[in-house]
Amino acid sequence: MDCIFCKIISGEIPSEKVYENDTVFAFKDIRPVAPEHILVVPKKHIANIEEISLEDSKVLSDLFMAVKEIASARKLNDKGYRLILNNGKAAGQEVFHLHLHVIGGKDSLGPMISR
Ligand code: AMP
Ligand code: ZN
Repeated sequence: MDCIFCKIISGEIPSEKVYENDTVFAFKDIRPVAPEHILVVPKKHIANIEEISLEDSKVLSDLFMAVKEIASARKLNDKGYRLILNNGKAAGQEVFHLHLHVIGGKDSLGPMISR
């Protein structure tokens, strides 16, 4: 499958890995919008929310537990951080492999969305 995040997970495309376990992989976003901008992705290829099913329940909870570990290890939880999931075209989803943006590392991240 021609998926850039699958290739990052397999190591075919290099990335700055920050975390990995059996089901989850996390790496630095190549175009950071804040001092810390990490993408947390399931190793299983799931395009977006529309493709998740009940059998992905564990993977999805693993994703959030990984966020918690990463935030704690990198001290993002001191100041707080933002999670973004762009789902589909209108949201600007560029890569159709489910991922959470973990954004933080500064005192204020500004308003949630621009209007
Ligand atoms: P989204 O718009 O939510 O699909 O976001 C895709 C994100 O992937 C963007 O923030 C990109 O900067 C990031 N991205 C694309 N290619 C790479 C790459 N090779 N390594 C790291 N991040 C990437
Ligand atoms: Zn993929």
